[in-house]
Amino acid sequence: MESWKKNVREAVPYVPGEQPDLPDMIKLNTNENPYPPSPKVGEALCAIRDQDLRLYPDPSAGELTGAVAGYYGLSREQVFVGVGSDDVLAMAFLTFFNGREPVLFPDITYSFYDVWAGLFRIPYRQVPLADDFTIRPEDYKAVNGGIVFPNPNAPTGEALSREAIEEIVAANPGGVVIVDEAYVDFGAVSALPLTEKYDNLLVVQTMSKSRSLAGMRIGYAMGNPGLIRCLNNVKYSFNSYTMDQTALAAGKAAMEDREYFEKTRKKVIETREWTKRELAKLGFSFGDSMGNFIFAAHEFCPAGELFAALRERHIFVRYFDKPRISNYLRITVGTPEEMEALIDFLKKYLRQE
Ligand code: PMP
Repeated sequence: MESWKKNVREAVPYVPGEQPDLPDMIKLNTNENPYPPSPKVGEALCAIRDQDLRLYPDPSAGELTGAVAGYYGLSREQVFVGVGSDDVLAMAFLTFFNGREPVLFPDITYSFYDVWAGLFRIPYRQVPLADDFTIRPEDYKAVNGGIVFPNPNAPTGEALSREAIEEIVAANPGGVVIVDEAYVDFGAVSALPLTEKYDNLLVVQTMSKSRSLAGMRIGYAMGNPGLIRCLNNVKYSFNSYTMDQTALAAGKAAMEDREYFEKTRKKVIETREWTKRELAKLGFSFGDSMGNFIFAAHEFCPAGELFAALRERHIFVRYFDKPRISNYLRITVGTPEEMEALIDFLKKYLRQE
């Protein structure tokens, strides 16, 4: 072994969904929004002058933090922003999960959680979901060094009620509970109001999904000022300027255009419900997804085979060859036309078998 290797931090990296670039493809594999961001975003980007880029951005990201705070009726001291919610979540893991007891998260969930835990040497325990893929609040009453779960969960799409989340938060005053609301705008109920009552609750959201800005990398956390201060202390110990000037301008513009946001998220929800009905007719089963994706298994055709057949036709969906979920496909909700093309293909393919 080369001598330097003993000093290297070992890491098992997260593998993001592929980003193919084919002219005729239908891309339903990374839960992106099929609609462009608000036209106000383009205007805000065009208004940036090259001169502006000479200076460092505002390290406190004040305008963006202010726009998020304004949208949710919070103060700036209750908001933290980062380079996508991945950055925000990584900072939150580093900041709040520094104890000896294991951090708890579901066994089937966002597969970045165990990667960060591994990277930061955080002890953790994966809590099995119930057989119907729901999170059972009572499972989160064991000794722990913190808790994290998405609501709705990914890749299942199953959402918890605010009461169920409160049960978890109230039972764990000695640790921080992070609710990852990456997909909350597509039909689940946000835990945000609970942050007024519980100082150990951090709610994390993103502009990647419901605000169509995955390419801009903007995420944010909301919680009581004490938590936000701790997050900022870690951020400023790592990189003061995480948000560049374009992201600050684009994020502010997207947050301020409520009407566009409402219009596009409603379209995605309608298309999801249409797709569910069509998939059911074809023999698929799935839970009541509240995300911009559907996690579905077919009654006789194995998911791995369907994944490969779809891929051949340049329809990209996500397949996780992992225990308990290897017979499921995660299908992102695209435009009505894209979903019609998917359903047409599946109709033909399944009939041929
Ligand atoms: N949380 C969950 C549950 C996700 O699925 C994703 C998307 N991969 C993220 C967080 C991170 O999204 P982003 O960094 O684009 O905000």
